[in-house]
Amino acid sequence: MRSPPPHTRKIARERIAILFARAREFFDEDPAVSRRCVALARRIAMRQRVRIDRVFRRQFCRHCHAFLVPGRNMRVRIHRGKVIVTCRECGRQMRYPLEERHETREG
Ligand SMILES: [Zn+2]
Repeated sequence: MRSPPPHTRKIARERIAILFARAREFFDEDPAVSRRCVALARRIAMRQRVRIDRVFRRQFCRHCHAFLVPGRNMRVRIHRGKVIVTCRECGRQMRYPLEERHETREG
């Protein structure tokens, strides 16, 4: 298997961004649509071997892949310099370092 040409990956990233935007847009109306958008975005990422940007990765549950919206189906707490996100769909947690500095700039 050869890796896809760079422009394919660029398109893949754009499609992923669009899917996450749509997921947010549809969430109030039908969270199932949002979930499908996440599934599709993940499939594109896998197929084109691109990473889903961190901003997007944090918008869905790592465990059950539900699209997450703070205050709706996601609870966010800061604890000891960590962001603790609880998914209310499956009840499981994700922890992230409280970023800032490096990594924030991209491209
Ligand atoms: Zn979950």
